[in-house]
Amino acid sequence: MKLHEYQAKELLARYGLPVPEGRVAENVESGLQAADRLGYPVAIKAQVHAGGRGKAGGVQLARDRDEAREALASILGMTLRTAQTGGQGCRVRRVLVEQGVEICHEFYISILPDRASGTMMIIGSTEGGTDIEAVAARTPEKISRIHVDPFAGLQPFHIRRLAFELDLNECQEKQFFDLLRNLYRAVTENDLLLAEINPLVFTAADTFLLLDAKVEVDSSALFRHRDLAALRDDTDRDPLELEAGKYRLNYIRLDGNIGTMVNGAGLAMATMDLIKRAGAAPANFLDVGGGANAVMIEHGFRILLADPRVKAILINIFGGILRCDVLARGVVAAARATAIDMPVVVRMEGTNVEEGRRILAGSNLALVTAVDLRDAAEKIADIAGGL
Ligand code: GDP
Ligand code: MN
Repeated sequence: MKLHEYQAKELLARYGLPVPEGRVAENVESGLQAADRLGYPVAIKAQVHAGGRGKAGGVQLARDRDEAREALASILGMTLRTAQTGGQGCRVRRVLVEQGVEICHEFYISILPDRASGTMMIIGSTEGGTDIEAVAARTPEKISRIHVDPFAGLQPFHIRRLAFELDLNECQEKQFFDLLRNLYRAVTENDLLLAEINPLVFTAADTFLLLDAKVEVDSSALFRHRDLAALRDDTDRDPLELEAGKYRLNYIRLDGNIGTMVNGAGLAMATMDLIKRAGAAPANFLDVGGGANAVMIEHGFRILLADPRVKAILINIFGGILRCDVLARGVVAAARATAIDMPVVVRMEGTNVEEGRRILAGSNLALVTAVDLRDAAEKIADIAGGL
């Protein structure tokens, strides 16, 4: 779960990390009040769950009240499209109004659990700012990576090494020790998947300041961080993913045009692989779970059909806890209720499969039945190829 910048900064400030003074505003008037109170110049920053705002006009500096009014009016309500928002963009409902800062240098720092190495990884660079992706691509030697054993924790030598690689002077290094310790503690104590500070600036007043903060919390750990769970803001999330979540359906949007409905995450992954191998592309991952019932199947159907990109559907169920006859009744009911108007391939195996097949065959619906998983993938790919 992603936090907004202002939420991330509130969290990190509780760990003694230096963040600029700022206030959140939802309209021009309250934004201006905040700016007046902070004093000019101010930075006005769109609060959306995506980076790259600076380049897209979502971060603007204002030297006086008139510029602040103009910046607030242009950012609030805008649809921000950045490299990270996806095609439809994010509508800006809130801005963070912050004290303007005089920057001497922009660093990049992030901490994240690195699954490949099984360590906490600290990434640092002297080339912070808006173009870190380009730095990583063109001059990878300017990116330092430090691996921290999660059981031993962050040690002074880690910090010293990073300070050396970032070429910090004595005054900076002293502050950097506390800063990195506090940031590391914030990440581990809150089960963060990412804390990315870009830029971490060194200011004209000779202090470090976290000018931007991107924080992602491990959703699976929210049960033990009630305070963080309360910060959830779903307005930027895919509406179909939200809808699916209401029915405890595990749905993830993908790029293709084959809607898929499968019981069990592993089977769903295998199904998507086979669809790809047969030359077609799934529009989604949808795991209805091992204990799905007819009502959940119908909800699943509605979610697939609500996606205008979906041109054909593949249902792949192994009837264990969910019996095939129950599934078949669910499919028939859902197909009738939603007046389904596209090809549906069904592959069904397991408990009560004969009864299930009878129900499908007797339904008068134009369902294509498959004998096994590969057959199902090939049939759906054939159909997709002819669309
Ligand atoms: P992002 O583009 O979404 O990562 O947004 P950031 O918060 O990182 O802002 C983008 C850039 O705006 C930063 O790299 C800074 O160069 C600049 N910026 C943001 N706040 C200030 C500020 O208070 N003063 C100055 N001079 N520049 C700022
Ligand atoms: Mn940034």
